[in-house]
Amino acid sequence: MDIMGFLRQRAGDFRCPVCRRSLADCELRQLAHQGPHYTVQVTCRHCSMAFLVALEVQGGGATEADTKERDPISADELLELHRQLADYEGPLTALLEPRQSRD
Ligand SMILES: [Zn+2]
Repeated sequence: MDIMGFLRQRAGDFRCPVCRRSLADCELRQLAHQGPHYTVQVTCRHCSMAFLVALEVQGGGATEADTKERDPISADELLELHRQLADYEGPLTALLEPRQSRD
């Protein structure tokens, strides 16, 4: 599964939550990869807004958002993620803490 290629293909479908311009030419950087879980930093080329996307790759090769059970990733989900991160005031590194360490 070429996760970065997948995100690159889909990026143009979404807009930056800050400057509202297309993310088609955004910068993508893979920050973490553990099993089927990927954390990717997306940086807007226009305003340098950076946010994180957590993805889980399923066995069938489909890529699904980690924030919902089994629904395919959708524009609404990514836009909601944008909204949440736009209001997030903590350090971005806090979002990278392994989930199991908090449980
Ligand atoms: Zn922007």
